[in-house]
Amino acid sequence: MSWTHVCVSTVCRRLASGFISPRIFTNSQPYYPSRILCRQMGSDTKAISVKLNGSGLIRSHGLIGGKWTEAYDGKTLEVLNPATGEVITTVPFMAGRETNDAIASAQEAFASWSKLTATERSKRLRKWYDLLISHKEELGQIVTLEQGKPVKEAIGEVTYAANFIEFYAEEAKRVYGDIIPTTSVDRRFFILKQPIGVVGLITPWNFPIAMITRKVAPALACGCTVVIKPSELTPLTALAAAELSIQAGIPPGVVNVVLGDAPAIGEALLASTQVKTISFTGSTAVGKKLMAGAAATVKKVSLELGGNAPCIVFDDADIEVAVKGTLAAKFRNTGQTCICANRVLVQEGIYDKFADAFSNAVKSLKVGNGFEEGVVLGPLINDAAVQKVETLVQDAVSKGAKILAGGNRHSLGMTFYEPTVIADVKCEMRISSEEVFGPVAPLLKFKTEEEAIHIANDTTAGLASYIFTRSVQRSWRVAEALEYGIVGVNEGLVSTEVTPHGGMKQSGLGREGSKYGMEEYLEIKYVCLGNLI
Ligand code: NAP
Repeated sequence: MSWTHVCVSTVCRRLASGFISPRIFTNSQPYYPSRILCRQMGSDTKAISVKLNGSGLIRSHGLIGGKWTEAYDGKTLEVLNPATGEVITTVPFMAGRETNDAIASAQEAFASWSKLTATERSKRLRKWYDLLISHKEELGQIVTLEQGKPVKEAIGEVTYAANFIEFYAEEAKRVYGDIIPTTSVDRRFFILKQPIGVVGLITPWNFPIAMITRKVAPALACGCTVVIKPSELTPLTALAAAELSIQAGIPPGVVNVVLGDAPAIGEALLASTQVKTISFTGSTAVGKKLMAGAAATVKKVSLELGGNAPCIVFDDADIEVAVKGTLAAKFRNTGQTCICANRVLVQEGIYDKFADAFSNAVKSLKVGNGFEEGVVLGPLINDAAVQKVETLVQDAVSKGAKILAGGNRHSLGMTFYEPTVIADVKCEMRISSEEVFGPVAPLLKFKTEEEAIHIANDTTAGLASYIFTRSVQRSWRVAEALEYGIVGVNEGLVSTEVTPHGGMKQSGLGREGSKYGMEEYLEIKYVCLGNLI
């Protein structure tokens, strides 16, 4: 069997991100459509794979105009299991030509999908929701297989993802316009809200299904059609969700999925005048590139980017609530969420007590393959992610920080890292200003409320923040002073489909979830009816 490297720039990106595989892209390997390659897997995962292969949810093609499609030049990409490093399957490695065809299909489908009544669109979305819920276990297993999070957490993500579809199935029926009081007796002013058109959706690997439905559901509810580009690291969940959209009766071309060369796909989406908006969730660096690229066609962009969430524990906090909330805000998804607590600021009066209770709780977190019973922390997504965590921890320790728990790669090897707490962290250490995206909680000591607010706001990010206090007055004062799109007060888990998610400053533009999430996909049209007398 010959394995041919075919895309140097993308191979370099994969190598840089920690996948040192000699078999990343090929145009000559045998193709395994819609199957997980069981023969290469460990026994636990193998049993799951056999079950999934029979579920009809494993798709290994892109979806263009309702047809499962290979890359036009036959190139493929291996999908890996981060817990074992094994190859799960291969998917097409597409680029600009496939993206242009997906855009054309979406444009064609837009003509009829946008003309359906809101009730019709709502019914199909509701059916899609029902299918996601009835397949939540299999979908959760696919998430764990390609992303690594514990299967219970993965099933939770599927339910959360499905909730967006249910919510927007309902919102579809509430896209109200306005009538504005006239300024002259012979004229009337009407405001129509209309679907913007074809939208390009680019999503990350950390929530392989929720980040997709949070965009697709409002887009479809408004009458838009979509071209989705999931992360190359987690394409299988996206494809399974797309398969269920077909089963729900969402017509061909309304949902398209292209996989592969991210910059080439991104460029095709940006260059197209048919694509009216790009909704992106991912790193701030790529978000900035897309925003600049959108200028050429004056495209709308909606950006959900990186964070640097402060979690502030005041002296008057309930320590149990603070420990539990900080654990949830920090360690969910092994610390790989945009709203993860990135810095834990603790007031001096409670610092030692909190540090003690928190590190004891952290030491009890079980690490392992997400399919194992009782595991709450899975692997990091790849070796580059582990290296980044190591570098940040080493930098902090070399500048005087003290390890209270963990601090090393896990004895399980692969990309597992010990749940870690570091004390005596200072603002000038890299870990205070860079997104950790791993299971490390840095503790910083502060004296006054003003100092805590200053430290918390002293960053270019502004996505999520958390405060723990028993004082109602302080809750309001600090929540209002924080320059963040989201504030959790005595609560570490803040994400729901009914509330707006999004950031201030360089954490993004626009909001997802809630009624505000619809606005990204609607145009406002003013109609002036004149000469009425
Ligand atoms: P990323 O590297 O920016 O990738 C995100 C998506 O963009 C992936 O689909 C990626 O494709 C694609 N992409 C990469 N380069 C591109 C380009 N030049 N043109 C078009 N698309 C491109 O981010 P990530 O590492 O996957 O995700 C982690 C980041 O996302 C963190 O910073 C996190 O905070 C942020 N995030 C934010 C939110 C939020 O709601 N604000 C939610 C989740 C994650 P490939 O993967 O195929 O390369």
